[in-house]
Amino acid sequence: MLRKIEHLGIAVKSIDQSLKVFEALLGTTCYKIERVESEAVQTAFLMIGESKIELLEASNPDSAIGKFLEKKGQGIHHIAFDVENIFSEIERLKNEGFELIHVSPKDGADNKIIAFLHPKSTEGVLVELCQEKS
Ligand code: ZN
Repeated sequence: MLRKIEHLGIAVKSIDQSLKVFEALLGTTCYKIERVESEAVQTAFLMIGESKIELLEASNPDSAIGKFLEKKGQGIHHIAFDVENIFSEIERLKNEGFELIHVSPKDGADNKIIAFLHPKSTEGVLVELCQEKS
């Protein structure tokens, strides 16, 4: 079951630059900066109510975020849903005909295990499932 929007991922050229903008916009400060080596990405998180904003900066131009920035520029990159059990959710979505980028979950930022759905099966929206690590 998808329980809520956990965060929105926003691709940025520079976390240092963009944090100033989002901290001013949201009236809060970043609570975590974390590098995710497997995705070659630097992340920064801001809390807004029950949801989060995740800023994503490419560690190198060949990474997924690097390619996204080159093609589309800065902007919303993905929407992440909180799930109770990512394994059963992956099975359910596969059975519904959705295409998974990750058929088994992997470690993500901010104490999560994650899996992405391919945007071609979700109306052009990159969707992330995330489950809090216990
Ligand atoms: Zn994310």
